[in-house]
Amino acid sequence: MSDRPGKIVCVGRNYREHAKELGNAVPTQPLLFLKPSSAIIRSGDAIVSPGLSNQVEHEGEIGVVIGAPIRRATEAQALAAIRGIVALNDVTARDIQKSDPQWTRGKGFDTFCPIGPEWVGVPDFDRVEVVTRVNGVVRQRGSGAEMVFSVPVLLAYISQVMTLEPGDIVATGTPAGVGPLVPGDVVEVEVVGYSTVSNPVVAES
Ligand code: ZN
Repeated sequence: MSDRPGKIVCVGRNYREHAKELGNAVPTQPLLFLKPSSAIIRSGDAIVSPGLSNQVEHEGEIGVVIGAPIRRATEAQALAAIRGIVALNDVTARDIQKSDPQWTRGKGFDTFCPIGPEWVGVPDFDRVEVVTRVNGVVRQRGSGAEMVFSVPVLLAYISQVMTLEPGDIVATGTPAGVGPLVPGDVVEVEVVGYSTVSNPVVAES
């Protein structure tokens, strides 16, 4: 089996303070988009800042890994289908995200989805914390308890549209504090006690 997930489903504006910092309303239903699995890199690999963008930003997130197929699931069925969690950085070219009506380009560059090693199990998501550091300085901090839509609600909602399959990853949204990444930086997303992904940022050559 490939070590690449079939798909990465992402959730936008799932923390109130982050929605506000970008001038957006808090959504009344989950806001979904996809990130291509070709964007995945592992801890230690470089994030390549593309020449097409002047505003690359970090978004530290809790990534949920699916273990069993679910379609039109209840929240209980969704929770039971989780295999594990990963630290995930939803790297975003903010300028391109804002200029395009769809987010595919701004979210989809190669290297824009660093993920950490998978922790296998189902944690108490309300107690799971995610911290993002750039060059050792904390930029973002949040917990599952602050999510607008909880993990089981998100998975059940997604599964009304598409089957979630083993290995698929759901990126559950980012807390406030998103900010720039420039060549020379090292960015680390830590899902505290579970998974960490750390990546240097380099310029496109
Ligand atoms: Zn995100």
